[in-house]
Amino acid sequence: MNNYSLHSHNCWTDNQLQEATLHIKDGIITEVIKGPLIPTDLPLIEAGDAVLMPGVIDAHVHINEPGRTYWEGFETATKAAAFGGITTLVDMPLNSSPVVTNVAAMQQKLTASEGKRHVHCGFYGGIVGNEIVEKGIKELEALLAAGCLGVKAFLVHSGIDEFPNATLAALDKAMPVIKAAGVPLLVHCEWEMPIKGEDLLSQNPTSYPAYLASRPKTWENEAIKRVLQLCQKHHCPTHIVHLSAADALPLILEAKRAGLPVTVETCTHYLFFEAETIPDGSTLHKCAPPIRKHPNNLLLKNALRDGQIDFIASDHSPAPPDIKELETGNFQKAWGGIAGLQFLLPASWTALRDHMSLSQFIPLLTKHPADFLGLGEIKGKIAAGYHADLVVWDPAQAFEVTEGLIHHRHKASPFVGQTLSGMVTDTFVRGERVVGNGKGRQRNCGEIILKE
Ligand SMILES: [Zn+2]
Repeated sequence: MNNYSLHSHNCWTDNQLQEATLHIKDGIITEVIKGPLIPTDLPLIEAGDAVLMPGVIDAHVHINEPGRTYWEGFETATKAAAFGGITTLVDMPLNSSPVVTNVAAMQQKLTASEGKRHVHCGFYGGIVGNEIVEKGIKELEALLAAGCLGVKAFLVHSGIDEFPNATLAALDKAMPVIKAAGVPLLVHCEWEMPIKGEDLLSQNPTSYPAYLASRPKTWENEAIKRVLQLCQKHHCPTHIVHLSAADALPLILEAKRAGLPVTVETCTHYLFFEAETIPDGSTLHKCAPPIRKHPNNLLLKNALRDGQIDFIASDHSPAPPDIKELETGNFQKAWGGIAGLQFLLPASWTALRDHMSLSQFIPLLTKHPADFLGLGEIKGKIAAGYHADLVVWDPAQAFEVTEGLIHHRHKASPFVGQTLSGMVTDTFVRGERVVGNGKGRQRNCGEIILKE
């Protein structure tokens, strides 16, 4: 079906929820007719009172294929995304093998996704170590020319030895090149410094408080300070991924007010979970930076509501149960990463619904990440001429996450057993109804998104 109408009493268009009918042809929204439904000859999909909004855009996902497909692959990740109402995701340059630090590796990524893209996929490149200083910027320039949507760097060990943290000297050299390509530098902001009670975690490896203390807020603050200094020097679009420490918000806000091209995301798990209720040994909750305490997380929610944090991403970074150390509960050894792609929409809404209106919430998963990725002219909005990437969901309908619902490669996720509000029933990818009435249908219609 490539020519049809879609009607809802709660369609997100012109920045409000209102009754509207969309005409969709060849993957494009050709017309938005506000007000009551006017019957036509076109086939009609009736969404009733459910919310019809642009498909969710997840700008931070680790798919791990090729090379670590047994952690997560395109087939399972993009299927989970579709069931979660996500129509576009952007894949990180790690933890696949090879890591995407050159064009050949990026090509392998694109090839690996063939026949397995149930939603649209974009790709980031990466810079590591001091390579740019030592070997020059040719490889980076080629990656940018190949169409990566941004460049990722770590300031602390990434967890993957072949993706070492970039030096500040490397960032200093890379930023003008990244700026010239018109894409952002994305930085994992933790700066390792000596901490009090350094051996607390080795003595109590299953203690969540000990793990939390091992990656303090000061590490994030310090890293962000350094990155903002470089941003000020080069005016290169700079994006702080997965902000967890609310202490850094005043710094970021000051930089934004000064006109620096800074953006920041936080993740669902920093909003949904709180350190106080994470049981010892629950390595499902291990991620870096860590999930912090209630007062901190409340500040993150307020910052999202007040427009200080730009958008929410999943930072889906799963690993097999043995690598997550589920049996031992050892936080020191466990892989740091949370599996949550499929629940980005409902878990974020569940965490935020008492803090903001639906109208404040929707852009955080649609328009804002679309703008960040340079896709704001074609995605993230319901308007004539925009791509028909759409989701139908009921924000009030609660459901319990069971392993049976999960389409990720591995079912291990801290969201299992949680009750979420916001059932996704239909997902449309360029007009194709890949999920219909909660059931998977036509798939493999996701496009590769490259920077033009
Ligand atoms: Zn990540």
